Amino acid sequence: MSSKRDYYEVLGVQKNATDAELKKAYRRLAMKYHPDRNPDDKGAEESFKEVKEAYEILSDERKRSAYDQFGHAGVEGGIGGGQHAGAGGFGDIFESVFGDIFGGGRAGGERVFRGSDLRYDLELSLEDAVNGSTTKIRVPRLVGCQVCNGSGAKKGSAPVKCTTCDGMGQVRMQQGFFSVQQTCPKCRGNGKIITDPCTSCRGNGRIREDKTISVKVPPGVDTGDRIRLTGEGEAGEKGGPSGDLYVHVIVKDHPIFAREGTNLSCDVPISFTMAALGGEIEVPTLEGKVSLKIPAETQSGKLFRLKNKGVRSVRATNKGDLICRVVVETPVNLDKRQKELLQDFERSMEHDNKKHSPKSRSWLDGVKEFFENMAP
Ligand SMILES: [Zn+2]
Ligand SMILES: [Zn+2]
Repeated sequence: MSSKRDYYEVLGVQKNATDAELKKAYRRLAMKYHPDRNPDDKGAEESFKEVKEAYEILSDERKRSAYDQFGHAGVEGGIGGGQHAGAGGFGDIFESVFGDIFGGGRAGGERVFRGSDLRYDLELSLEDAVNGSTTKIRVPRLVGCQVCNGSGAKKGSAPVKCTTCDGMGQVRMQQGFFSVQQTCPKCRGNGKIITDPCTSCRGNGRIREDKTISVKVPPGVDTGDRIRLTGEGEAGEKGGPSGDLYVHVIVKDHPIFAREGTNLSCDVPISFTMAALGGEIEVPTLEGKVSLKIPAETQSGKLFRLKNKGVRSVRATNKGDLICRVVVETPVNLDKRQKELLQDFERSMEHDNKKHSPKSRSWLDGVKEFFENMAP
């Protein structure tokens, strides 16, 4: 096998040729030596095989690296001797190299004219998302022309069979030395020609229109959920089926509640008097007010869980909880007397401050320990 020519030489490229350069060289030489172009020319056929083999090796990163290191010995056996002989055998590689010259649309069969899917972002309040709602949305889209029923042909006329492709939508084209099946350029694969177009849609079969659609939002939806409305997308071309409309749910921020899955949470401000003495306050839920008992000596940041006052998700039947976070509020705009009362109050605690301030006590202890540990 040492009589073989160097693959790079065969393709007429440098050792460091890029994939694009290889492909270009291969195309040029394959065209030149193709058996269809050189009937009964043994020499051309041999050259064609040689070019094809060189390209098969060099276009494969692994084989190319083996070839670069070990020459022909590195890739022998990787390709069979007989499998690429004869004009019938170059289907797959031909497809990959030449496929893009002629466009991909040469496959036979019916062309599908399904309309595009559409997306609509629907903003909902938390209440509407939780309880469900029916919302009307306006969607600009292409709809089937009512005048011609989507056919594109003027009323009373009908599309006629395309004579170029005889109604097949595909034509055989002679491209240099070989022929390919191609989408008919005249009817664009449709097989029919409109000779007398509908004036309302100018032969397109579709017109742009805002349609108002009623969307039923199921209770429990959350941001990221989507609702599919089958057939509410764009109309298909030439009377083809419509696409679908996907409504993407976006739940707006709520002034009081934050939602996480099925749980709701909110901050509940209380006065420091209530925090100290305890009491009862009203807190909001999505179903109205409920009362919440604040025990005496409640610290700021304490969480209270109200069972089943959260929300249900579309998927789960269990209801989540409402988590209230107590925030002790510092009084503002105090008058002279109120300030004096507070100063009196503060003095009353001075003799045993530690007893009344559990947090400060443990904090001060922590600080003390911290500095003691730091001392050398
Ligand atoms: Zn045609
Ligand atoms: Zn029309």
